[in-house]
Amino acid sequence: MSDCLFCKIVDGDIPSKKVYEDDEYLAFWDIAPKAPVHILLIPKQHIASLYHLDDSNVGVVQGMMSKAPEIARLMKLDDGFRAIVNTGDGGGQEVGHIHLHILGDVRKATWSGF
Ligand code: C5P
Repeated sequence: MSDCLFCKIVDGDIPSKKVYEDDEYLAFWDIAPKAPVHILLIPKQHIASLYHLDDSNVGVVQGMMSKAPEIARLMKLDDGFRAIVNTGDGGGQEVGHIHLHILGDVRKATWSGF
């Protein structure tokens, strides 16, 4: 069994507050939101990080990026959003399964660590 946290969320072994799901992608509320809206969009396929992109998985990551505006519309972020992919230790990545942070109303965020 994978010990990847986000794979466990995909498998339903760890609960999450889902906002979107299809065969390939899942979006859910970050457990510790850094802004009034803070969603994590992930591919169901395990890819460790953006650094691990190669010919075999580039389409999955492109698909994740193209899902971002759909999630933003779903969350009514019509005036814009911030999209972030932390990558590796040096990039502040804590969970080793690629994910896109989608943050809305960032000027109301109390934390400016991004
Ligand atoms: O980019 P990074 O790897 O640091 O982001 C991981 C994110 O996953 C954090 O914002 C953290 O709050 C979130 N998280 C979560 N649910 C968990 C564990 C972490 O939403 N069970």
